[in-house]
Amino acid sequence: MARVATISNWASRGPNGYALATVAVGLALLARLGLEAFGKFYYLPLIPAVMLPAMLASRRATALAIALSIAANVVLVSRESLVDAVVNALLFALVGAAIGEIGRARRSLKERSLELKTQLNTRNATIHAMLASAPVVTLDSRSVVLAISQPACALFRIAEREAVGRPFQEFVEFFDAGIIRSSPPGEYSADQYWLGRRADGDVFPLGIQLAFVTGDPRTSEAILTLTDLSLWHSAELRSQELSDQLNQVWRMNSLGEMAAILSHELNQPLTAAASYLQASQVDLGRAGIMADSASRTVELAKSQVLRAGAIIRRARELLTVETQPLEPERMSSMIDDLGPIIQLLGPASDASIQIDIDNIDDRVMADRIQFQQAIVNLVRNAVEAVADRERREVRLVGRPLCPDFYEVRVEDSGPGVPADQVERMFEPLMTTKSDGMGLGLSVTRTIVENHGGSLTVGRSAMGGAAFTFSLSRAKEEPIQ
Ligand code: ADP
Repeated sequence: MARVATISNWASRGPNGYALATVAVGLALLARLGLEAFGKFYYLPLIPAVMLPAMLASRRATALAIALSIAANVVLVSRESLVDAVVNALLFALVGAAIGEIGRARRSLKERSLELKTQLNTRNATIHAMLASAPVVTLDSRSVVLAISQPACALFRIAEREAVGRPFQEFVEFFDAGIIRSSPPGEYSADQYWLGRRADGDVFPLGIQLAFVTGDPRTSEAILTLTDLSLWHSAELRSQELSDQLNQVWRMNSLGEMAAILSHELNQPLTAAASYLQASQVDLGRAGIMADSASRTVELAKSQVLRAGAIIRRARELLTVETQPLEPERMSSMIDDLGPIIQLLGPASDASIQIDIDNIDDRVMADRIQFQQAIVNLVRNAVEAVADRERREVRLVGRPLCPDFYEVRVEDSGPGVPADQVERMFEPLMTTKSDGMGLGLSVTRTIVENHGGSLTVGRSAMGGAAFTFSLSRAKEEPIQ
């Protein structure tokens, strides 16, 4: 087969085709000479001489073979009549031309089939490579495993020969072949997960994407592309844990802030009341024995006022959040952990949140969870500030400021903060929102101050507010 293709390649080049035609006609003439003893064959032995270039060479080479054959026949074979010679020559030319066309058609069909075969082989190789590199399982119409790729075997920790022929239900908890076959294609995507069961009994979250080989899901073979969602799942759990932790820290921080406000606001009137009672006691003392009873009552009132003050101070002490010693932390790592929580804030206002943290040389001194709380507060405020705007963008930027400080900025495209409001907005209980508590900025400022920095607000290049603070940088760990 390969040899024929090589000869055909050689003969398809112009001069080679002509040479082939000439040699073929020469050989055919010799053959006819040999057959002379058995009778007159005229054009018959010359037909193979036309077929050869027709199958292997160009149209012109075939025409040359026909012309040479006619010429040789006219010269070498004497005919009784000229009409007979011309008719025979014409007939031969016609048959030769037909042979030529059939040969060409056959050749181009062969070439096309070769081309298709090569394409099919390449496609097969691609499918095999895809199957070999992806966890894929093929099921028959009863959901029995027909084929399983190596990565899928690795996923279930099972050998291919042990998996083939087993019902797929044995690999996936609560797998319901009936439901899967009656669902619209593609419905079982990676964000809905199943519980895969490994051969050693381990259970893991598994994404299944489904396709059917033919149109009818009830009878068709099904191709299942599997995804091990363990990593995604544990990231999800970590993020949920962090979110719970942040909620708790927020509750403690806001309670502490409220206790500080109450203590601050009540301390002064209670102290004043105690002083007034003390002064009354002095006056009553001057009135002598007659005022003894009243003086005792005032004493009781004074002790209750002092007790109230002590209770408030005690509550403040209890609710004051213990500041943990600051530890070296990577800024990028603290923000990466927050990523999913921050991104969840965006959709509520249809805001896009861009995080741009310089992660080279980004070690800072921080109380990780408190710092994260401060960032969440600022981003939440920024997202709320852009909610009614046409442009709804929030940016969280982190840059080393100088050898000693790393700057963090949360900015937005909201309305910004009027200059005369700047000081007031940090005051506890100050809010412009119908459902606001007015504690976010005061808690954030306390956190920033506990980190040795100060929280400032200015105008962002995006048109809204820009809240900025700095943290002390920690020394980079020497490379071991
Ligand atoms: P709350 O969010 O509960 O109102 P905060 O202490 O976090 O409490 O904020 C106080 C006020 O500061 C807000 O009500 C709002 O008016 C203003 N504010 C906070 N952040 C922004 C911001 N990014 N842009 C404009 N105003 C803001």
